[in-house]
Amino acid sequence: MSELVMRWAGRDQVRRAAMASPAARELVARYVAGERLDDLVPVLHSLVDKGLLVSVEYLGHPVTALGDAEANRAGYLELITGLAAEGLAKGAEISVRLSLLGQELGAQGEEFALQAARRITRMASNAGALVTLDMSGSEFVDSTLGTWVQLNQDLPSIGATVQAALHRTERDLANLAMPGGRIRLCKGAFRESRAVAFRNRHEIDLAFVRGLRILMKSQAVPLVATHDPRLIAIAEELIRRAGRAPDSYEFQMLYGVRPLELRRLADIGHSARSYVPYGPGWYEYYLHGLVERPDNLALFMRSLMGKR
Ligand code: FAD
Repeated sequence: MSELVMRWAGRDQVRRAAMASPAARELVARYVAGERLDDLVPVLHSLVDKGLLVSVEYLGHPVTALGDAEANRAGYLELITGLAAEGLAKGAEISVRLSLLGQELGAQGEEFALQAARRITRMASNAGALVTLDMSGSEFVDSTLGTWVQLNQDLPSIGATVQAALHRTERDLANLAMPGGRIRLCKGAFRESRAVAFRNRHEIDLAFVRGLRILMKSQAVPLVATHDPRLIAIAEELIRRAGRAPDSYEFQMLYGVRPLELRRLADIGHSARSYVPYGPGWYEYYLHGLVERPDNLALFMRSLMGKR
């Protein structure tokens, strides 16, 4: 059922209707800062004013050719310039999705993505910002970690994301959790086969806790990316037991999801970062999120019909 609705929502007419509908845009604005830098900047200022750190995910154009990847690279560079001009770059994190830079276009695309990520990371680093690589589906983990290793040689502050759902993650963590390395642990947003991933929620949660234990015992900087109250409580306890200082780990949550919990974590002295998506690909991002959240799908359909 939801697949049918998603196909309908992906049609051009529906997309145009969503862009024109104030109710739909209002709904999306809860999770996405907007389409342009001018939309993003006030959102970031308001988060920073509340004592939160920020991570920006640039939502670029879908990539079917290298030209699209070039356009997205320009979008990332424009983002960093804009953040620096607004005094927002220092301490901000730029979350880089290698698929937007051509990673999925074969060997040439992978090389382009590496060089583009290098340029973005250098520029971010000069502006005082951090970069963390997002993680796509399991077939791109080797490529992403390979790119991370190459970038890490001259830019050791670059972070990587790992997905607890994948069987390989515990092994990967043993290599990634290096002193000072920023490692983001999330559950994983992709539907994977049983051959490579846990599919049962409880098994994924247990794998997340194992990942947390490895990271908290290491000298890496764990970035705890979850909204799950039980996992947050376990992370808090592991942080306490490890005697970690607040600048040696972070809690990270998606903009608009459990914002009061993120504020609570910041208020009691943890480093807490809001992960804020913005950019021309906002509609596709929102649709992707709807697949996981059927309640939001119903609300979205009502908003297109002019109902709240
Ligand atoms: P869940 O059990 O899914 O959620 C716990 C509770 O949080 C839910 O009951 C619900 O109340 C709330 N919630 C969670 N997500 C949403 C939502 N979208 N809308 C509304 N409510 C929600 N995945 C990747 O595969 N690759 C990445 O690079 C990646 N980067 C991420 C970066 C950050 C900072 C975060 C927070 C997540 C990232 N993810 C990434 C997504 C992640 O893998 C999960 O799919 C997502 O965070 C939901 O898992 P959860 O741990 O919050 O647990």
